[in-house]
Amino acid sequence: MFQESTDGLELFKKQYRTDASIGDLAPTVCRLCGLPAPDRNGGTPIAEVVDHAGKLMDGEGLTEKVLLFCADALGESQRKHYTADFEKIQRTAGLRILSSAVMPSVTPVCYGTIFTGASPAVHGIQQYEKPVIKIETLFDVFAKNGKNVAIAAVNGCSIDKIFRERAIDYYSFRTDEKSFRCARELMAHSDYDLIVCYMTGYDAVMHKTGPFSEAAAGQAQLAAERFVQLAEDMDIHWRKFHRVLAFVPDHGGHAVDETHGAHGSNIPEDMLVNHYYRIRSREPK
Ligand SMILES: [Zn+2]
Repeated sequence: MFQESTDGLELFKKQYRTDASIGDLAPTVCRLCGLPAPDRNGGTPIAEVVDHAGKLMDGEGLTEKVLLFCADALGESQRKHYTADFEKIQRTAGLRILSSAVMPSVTPVCYGTIFTGASPAVHGIQQYEKPVIKIETLFDVFAKNGKNVAIAAVNGCSIDKIFRERAIDYYSFRTDEKSFRCARELMAHSDYDLIVCYMTGYDAVMHKTGPFSEAAAGQAQLAAERFVQLAEDMDIHWRKFHRVLAFVPDHGGHAVDETHGAHGSNIPEDMLVNHYYRIRSREPK
């Protein structure tokens, strides 16, 4: 139906020989929650994730609570380098889905695709710019179906800006630390069904000091620790719900010289990322 949307994702799946695209996240989360995919979606619900949830929930019950931890620029080349941190993420999540990004592999373009399921040509952001996306997103689908959505992010970042003007709540901060604290608070003390917690730290540092600098390593470690913490929080505060925690980077990154990093190119270092899914069924009543 929306061929342009699908083709824009398939192109890079073929080039990088991945089964999944980052654009598969929106239809996958929607499927888990029993909701229709965004209307311009060109992605495919990931069978491995959907089947796992089906088995765990014994064919009955859909995912009720979702937290998406969006750690910017922590892609496959980062996984290969920061092995201990990513093993921690793997152990916590269970499911790892190697996915290809879209071009250009920059934050607003990629998160635009991740949360609409649509190719950049369809969602409209095709370069580094941060306009409000006009087509239907994962967030709109949730809101339309009576669900409460929150986005916690540093102010002025892509995720803070391109999904505005929707029936959802925006929590905008000066630091990652505050966004992270906010996400934890929201799980404990509110009734959100879908929470996005964005972390810019690794991306910010990798540009300035290189993808494998000491400072970058600190941010990769912090991202893994925060992911584990969110899983622990979720098992306490959301234990009565079928729940999903996902680790959702947008792109990877590469070194441009000894002390600087970048992304945006059509190369494996930038284009390959892993989306991790941790699925838990509710505590029996
Ligand atoms: Zn990014």
